[in-house]
Amino acid sequence: MNILIETHSHTVASGHFTRDTITDLARAAQAKSIRLLCVTDHSPSIPGSATENYFRGLKYCEKKRFGVEILYGTEADVMNESGALGMSDELLAEMVIVIASQHPPCFKPADIDTNTRGFLRAIESGRIDIVGHPDDEKYPLHAEALVDACKRFGTIIEMNNASLNPHGYRGDAKARDAELLKLCKEKRVYVSLGSDSHGAAHIGDFTYALSLIRECAFPEELIVNTSVPLFLSLLEPHREARKNYHK
Ligand SMILES: [Zn+2]
Ligand SMILES: [Zn+2]
Repeated sequence: MNILIETHSHTVASGHFTRDTITDLARAAQAKSIRLLCVTDHSPSIPGSATENYFRGLKYCEKKRFGVEILYGTEADVMNESGALGMSDELLAEMVIVIASQHPPCFKPADIDTNTRGFLRAIESGRIDIVGHPDDEKYPLHAEALVDACKRFGTIIEMNNASLNPHGYRGDAKARDAELLKLCKEKRVYVSLGSDSHGAAHIGDFTYALSLIRECAFPEELIVNTSVPLFLSLLEPHREARKNYHK
């Protein structure tokens, strides 16, 4: 499988685990033959992450470094069961890619209905490109409801390599991910591989995610990382929805 895209990465701006910059990440992407790099720092809602001003400046950053095309966006927190996101609507409209995830500082792990509702409401806003690590043991989810919503709104389900790392911090992600892959295969829903690298070290490393993809005989044509035009076309409607969003 020819992986051309890194969909999920963090720089020093996320405020933890690394001091690496966008330049460091782009250089690492080039070394891994990645053609398109998504820089998705944590939204300002996460304590210690960058401010809205930082994100506002991203549109002035170079869109290509070391031959690698760069998309600037965010991993936005789902803040509550209404699906509110941890960045202002006006700034979300400027992001080229938006991953929505649940993290304990912003969304306290709750019961399966509440966790699922948070994701569903966020997806139903039409503004979400990728559901980030929906495999965290702390957050039980209704997998089928999630996949059905992604199907309806063209949202992508993430296979997060950091979650699948046996030394990862999201518990046993494998069973949930296998269940999600089975549903995505049945219902023809797109999946993204994301390293969730904090810094340059793990850019383009999808070892564990790829191993599960093979184990589950998941079809290559549903993996967005293999085609830049496909990936960009999937992002487009959500970007439009972010621009036209009115509460
Ligand atoms: Zn995350
Ligand atoms: Zn992340």
